[in-house]
Amino acid sequence: MNKLGIRTVRDLIGYFPRAYEDRTAAKNIEDLTLGETVCIRAMAAESPKLSHIRSGLDLVKFRAVDETGSIDITYFNQSYIKDAIKQGEEYIFYGKVDGTLLQHTMANPLYELASTAGAATGRIVPVYSLTAGLSQKSMMNTVRNALDKYGDALPDYLPESVIEQNNLCSARNAYENIHFPLDSICLGMARQRLVFEELFTIAAAMKLMRSNRASKAGRILDIPDFNEFYDTLEFNLTNAQKRAIDDAARDMSSGRPMNRLIQGDVGSGKTLIAAACCWDAWYGGCQSAFMAPTEILAKQHYNSLSDLLEPLDMHVGLLTGSMTPKQKQDVYQKLSSGEIDLIIGTHALLSEGVRFSNLALVITDEQHRFGVQQRATLTEKGDSPHVLVMSATPIPRTLALIIYGDLDVSVIDEMPPGRKPVETFIVDERYRRRINDFIEKLVGEGRQVFIICPMVEEGETSPDDLKSAEEYYDSLANYVFPNLRVALVHGKMPTKEKDAAMALFSSGQADILVATTVVEIGVDVPNAALMIVENADRFGLSQLHQLRGRVGRGRHASYCVLFSGAAGETSRERLEIMRKTNDGFIIAEEDLKIRGPGDFFGSRQHGLPELRIANLASDMAVLRQAQDAADRVLAADPLLSSDENRNLMDQIAHLFEINAEKLN
Ligand code: ADP
Ligand code: MG
Repeated sequence: MNKLGIRTVRDLIGYFPRAYEDRTAAKNIEDLTLGETVCIRAMAAESPKLSHIRSGLDLVKFRAVDETGSIDITYFNQSYIKDAIKQGEEYIFYGKVDGTLLQHTMANPLYELASTAGAATGRIVPVYSLTAGLSQKSMMNTVRNALDKYGDALPDYLPESVIEQNNLCSARNAYENIHFPLDSICLGMARQRLVFEELFTIAAAMKLMRSNRASKAGRILDIPDFNEFYDTLEFNLTNAQKRAIDDAARDMSSGRPMNRLIQGDVGSGKTLIAAACCWDAWYGGCQSAFMAPTEILAKQHYNSLSDLLEPLDMHVGLLTGSMTPKQKQDVYQKLSSGEIDLIIGTHALLSEGVRFSNLALVITDEQHRFGVQQRATLTEKGDSPHVLVMSATPIPRTLALIIYGDLDVSVIDEMPPGRKPVETFIVDERYRRRINDFIEKLVGEGRQVFIICPMVEEGETSPDDLKSAEEYYDSLANYVFPNLRVALVHGKMPTKEKDAAMALFSSGQADILVATTVVEIGVDVPNAALMIVENADRFGLSQLHQLRGRVGRGRHASYCVLFSGAAGETSRERLEIMRKTNDGFIIAEEDLKIRGPGDFFGSRQHGLPELRIANLASDMAVLRQAQDAADRVLAADPLLSSDENRNLMDQIAHLFEINAEKLN
């Protein structure tokens, strides 16, 4: 059970069945149809006979009857059945109907004595996800015991008023029926309650964080005249960009700490919004910190933001894990003295040594890779600084409501002018030659090409995979395109080599960049016009969309080629969505439908508790209901400090694995 994450009775009772077997249907023998799985109530018409069919195969067989007919029942390698089943006794058998139309049989059915039946037959039975050494039966019995002994002691942490207003059943009832449903209606009510409870708790936690922050004073930054900044740019901002900047500037002048999410598809120009906000903070005499998920991205942001902001007299710094202690010390010193106005970095920004003289704005890029706690660690380095979160991952609304429930949102729904949709092709090996020719042709025209192989991922350490990325690169560089300049970058490379490869590619000194998904997010090389993805089936659609977003950023017509070996209908159908639309939100919705929210929620990267029962694709209505309820509770008791809400507060702290203090 420990392997399943079950350590306490609370864990056990909260370990919900993954499915149910409906063993309520009982039939007369004459009504049975071949292939169905049912219960029958029948008497053993004879004593079971044991025979050894061959070595290693024992068979117990007997005939059972009811008023309507007879059936042959057999058990393989369960010779104890011979003595367990008594002639003349009535049993409930549950199993699959087999045999012929003339004589039905049932092999290895579950059975219970009819007079005492009800535990394993004649009811809806839970099916748990198990691990080696644990059987359904022992799991079921353990849960049964736990509920019998401790069920009445279960705390109900939903406030009374919430239970009433939303017509929910009691916690005791819900836990009983989610494991051992009396019937499908009770199961439905139990599920409703538990889904509600789960979503409500997260919603309440998010709102609690929000009201904690809203109770704090934010640094007031007067809204500057942004034209001073805009005038230095080579292009005009889109209206969506301006709107987002205005939203943020208004937040930062409001006297409350800003908490805003900028959500925009790849290529919508979020970096510029970040730049404008940093400039705003600097204008008010304050420092900003900008945290990116990878070194490559941090450096790229550093380059583009220093290009934009240094001419305006701002001092921009960079801090990454791969810098020498001496370099880091130097940055620390300049941060605490206030010499650096904007620091861009990776997780290194969270280190102990990082102290600011006057931090007023924290920006995180691609936020779902950072946990709630990490965001908190960075903001603690300032005095309730403003927070701006940028996400390029179009997250379906359902998920956004949960993951970003504590943030205000600006949506960038407009692309910079002149963007052409990336033409997308799904091909198999038969097209290899043609695609290779196409690569040569595009490079001949001065364009650059990404080739993605799905091997070495960040955080993965399989030496075989490592080899395959490098081998793949070797064959491309030496045999397939000996005349082209090919570079390689993957997550497991030393940072120096990574940088060198990226620099070669972005400066145009390499024609082809062979890469793993380290380029998935953020990388901006406008001259790249072709994205090739090997084994595209292995990627999620949203991930493919991010990859495709690496091209089509410049003036050139751009293409995306997805190599797919899989013949399977569904994987083909899945990739077809990529061909049909360039809209990241549609793609993300499809992804959620096909793959479920596991990708977002399984990893726990965002610091939210795992969803144990709610399904974000189908429980949208409950989510709304839960959010409304949380709104009402938090409106009445913004810090959840009343007695009625004590259990709820405990549960939030438990779920988020942090003490209540930290939520503030
Ligand atoms: P993302 O939203 O994916 O982070 P970026 O900020 O990297 O997008 O911007 C993508 C590209 O578009 C960059 O090369 C950037 O310079 C350019 N860009 C941003 N805003 C505009 C605009 N208003 N007009 C033209 N190009 C823009
Ligand atoms: Mg970006």
